[in-house]
Amino acid sequence: MKQDYYELLGVSKNATQAEIKKGYRKMAIKYHPDKNPDDKSAEEHFKKAAEAYEVLSDENKKARYDQYGHAAFENGGGGAGGFGGGGMNMDDIFSQFGDIFGGAFGGGGGGFGGFGGGSRGRAMVKGSNLRIRVKLTLEEIANGVEKKVKVKRKVSAEGATYKTCTTCNGNGQVMRVTNTILGRMQSASTCPTCQGAGEILDKKPKNADAQGLVQKEETVSIKIPPGVTDGVQLKVNGKGNSAPGNNSIDGDLIVVIEEVNHETLKREGTNLHFDLYVNFSEAVLGIDKNIDTVSGKVKIKIEPGTQSGKILRLRGKGLPSIDHYGNGDLLVHVNVWTPQSLSKEQKKFFENMKSDSNFAPNPSKFDKSFFEKVKDMFS
Ligand SMILES: [Zn+2]
Repeated sequence: MKQDYYELLGVSKNATQAEIKKGYRKMAIKYHPDKNPDDKSAEEHFKKAAEAYEVLSDENKKARYDQYGHAAFENGGGGAGGFGGGGMNMDDIFSQFGDIFGGAFGGGGGGFGGFGGGSRGRAMVKGSNLRIRVKLTLEEIANGVEKKVKVKRKVSAEGATYKTCTTCNGNGQVMRVTNTILGRMQSASTCPTCQGAGEILDKKPKNADAQGLVQKEETVSIKIPPGVTDGVQLKVNGKGNSAPGNNSIDGDLIVVIEEVNHETLKREGTNLHFDLYVNFSEAVLGIDKNIDTVSGKVKIKIEPGTQSGKILRLRGKGLPSIDHYGNGDLLVHVNVWTPQSLSKEQKKFFENMKSDSNFAPNPSKFDKSFFEKVKDMFS
């Protein structure tokens, strides 16, 4: 059996709207989650009172309730709105009825359900974010890495205490009335005394600043996933500056990734490129070469008769994608080094080759590398 709405608010059936509001305020404060942390039954009461107030504060719904009782809102009876069976949730309550508390929960601060997104819709003042740059090698990017960085953060000084701001009664906002040609206008603005925090410093420790904060160096561990790219920003929650007050939340630490250029590997998305130089005779006779990868050296075979410009694709030897779409490839570009100074003897040797038909280029017939190269350029 559902409890009577009037009973829930501790008022009589003939209660006026003012009395209903007063009754709700009393119950809401009595069962307020701040006063009854982790008390499920208090939370239930708190929700039920909000539901009762939602109906009784609305003349239309109240009239239906007076006539039909709870049945007025069951089985498609129009609904009391917002709590079909499951009751109202805390955020709804604070955003709809938050003003009922006025200054009762001073520390809770401004305007319930405003900025910041505290779990119960209270206003939260958030500390500023900090930014740092972290340099990563390709090897670190390939495997992911945990970096420990030193960060200078502003944190609450030991012994700093805060009290409710008396200018705004902890609301964080003050109302201002101005006269305009359209009449009196009321507008809310951030409280100049507490800057919206709803609290001001009560006791200032010696070393603290005017907000009760001190700067402290802290080592923060940052887990960097594989596959990040230059300029990517990662967020470490709560490792930025603290904001003053009991209900403030810490800012975040923004980590900007900076990729250190690799000595031999060039990055292009998830693919890597490596320029391999072989000498003339290595290209002619073939050779095994060690090349760099992000997971150490790898031996590759240069076939006899390899043309300059050939691209060897080592599948999966590139970088992982941050979205887990698998690894890119390592593309080895073969460059045949042409000797630039020759001895007399060597010169003669090459002179002899010049007219030999065996050395005449014939790219279309015998070697596909030229086409592979073009294909790779567009892949
Ligand atoms: Zn204030």
